[in-house]
Amino acid sequence: MELYKKYPIHLTNSLSGEKELFKPVNEGHLGMYVCGPTVYSDVHLGNVRTFLTFDIVSRYYRFLGYKVRYVRNITDVGHLENDADEGEDKIAKKARLEQLEPMEVVKKITEGFHHVLRQFNMIPPSIEPSATGHIVEQIEIVKKLIQHGLAYEVNGSVYFDVLKYNEHHHYGILSGRVIEELMESGRKLDSQDEKRNKIDFALWKKASPYHIMRWISPWGEGFPGWHIECTVMSTKYLGETFDVHGGGMDLKFPHHECEIAQAVGANNKQPANYWLHSNMLTVNGQKMSKSLGNSFLPSELFAGTHALLDKGYGPMTVRFFMLQSHYSSTLDFSNEALHAAEKGFKRLVNALTAIKKLEHPGSNQENNEVTEALKRLIEACYENMSDDFNTAKTLAVLFEMSARINDFKSGNTSLNQIDAETFNHFKQTYISFMEDVLGLLEEEEHNTGLLNGVINVLIELRKKARQDKNFALSDKIRDDLKTLGVQLMDGKDGDMGYVVE
Ligand SMILES: [Zn+2]
Repeated sequence: MELYKKYPIHLTNSLSGEKELFKPVNEGHLGMYVCGPTVYSDVHLGNVRTFLTFDIVSRYYRFLGYKVRYVRNITDVGHLENDADEGEDKIAKKARLEQLEPMEVVKKITEGFHHVLRQFNMIPPSIEPSATGHIVEQIEIVKKLIQHGLAYEVNGSVYFDVLKYNEHHHYGILSGRVIEELMESGRKLDSQDEKRNKIDFALWKKASPYHIMRWISPWGEGFPGWHIECTVMSTKYLGETFDVHGGGMDLKFPHHECEIAQAVGANNKQPANYWLHSNMLTVNGQKMSKSLGNSFLPSELFAGTHALLDKGYGPMTVRFFMLQSHYSSTLDFSNEALHAAEKGFKRLVNALTAIKKLEHPGSNQENNEVTEALKRLIEACYENMSDDFNTAKTLAVLFEMSARINDFKSGNTSLNQIDAETFNHFKQTYISFMEDVLGLLEEEEHNTGLLNGVINVLIELRKKARQDKNFALSDKIRDDLKTLGVQLMDGKDGDMGYVVE
């Protein structure tokens, strides 16, 4: 029997606000869409937490035997500043400031994003479509919404008519926002505005003469609104109704609310049966934000160069730290909390190393009490993960298991008190939940000595090359190391240090 039949998943559905039993659209399959990054600036730790949440979700479904199709997009056009319908495109702005082509920004930031997620041992999605790769489909759905009387064109731009939609459907179904209140708050429309109502949102925007990213459409040259890409890419790859739609809590409104309105308006179906939202990361109790100066880049965290840290922490320690909280709770990030996480994680990893070496001796003086206790721990792992992916409680069970493992290792508990089948199941469960379900691997500390040695050899070679005025070679060594995440720093006296990103 498949594991998923034995351990049905319950998950908190933002659409109903209730914890519900998961029922897939297709038996044994999970279709999940997660809003990916807008690739205009380096991924910070708050984003890492969101993607970690859905890494865990996809891992657990896969572990239970589901066939998973996980789609996560790349937003490379249409996301305007302040998440609004006016202002500059975030990517175009970055490109202008750095004097790059927008697609150069997109490539550079996307590669950095993938690199960081790999460092955190996240499994890539099955499909990673980009907004610019789906312009044709976006134009098609906008045409459909106009035909359905739910969108209107003004001056080369097209807007979604929220009030019209709300006559037959419910705008606010996900976020709980009330139309009347939204209509009252903020500034009023003036004669300059193209929208019929202030809560209408852009599906397609006319490009100004200076706008670089532009495509031909039935309404003239322009570019898509931010929300429409996700409606198109989720339903294209997963069907008009799919299982799970995920994203950060900050996307619930307006982004996800608009996605629902677009999909229901076009297809007359709810796009996703379950909506999952991952909560925020705070720093010493404050929301993480660039303007407060408390946002962290993963590289600063690993190197320990951020002002709020007294040392660097490895990506697995940080992964463990984040999993100590349930995805729906806020998580506070502090030096002390990381310090404690480092110790806790070591305990689990030591037990992992130990149990891999333990083999059941075969002989038997069975003690039912010990055997039953181990069986309960095994069950608890599945029960906690199946209960809304509760990684915090699962880790608590793994700590109990690690104490047992230490007893086996020290001889406090003799293995021949346990029946062989239960021991092997216990061993396999501990290893699988650590490595496959939670994705926690040993930090690669043991290689540090070797790595340092090799880098120092290269630094010496580069010095020699510079002395010989072979700058092509010295630059190549520097650039190749940088690609691998090792940044060389030229000192005043010619000595060179390095930072591993
Ligand atoms: Zn989205």
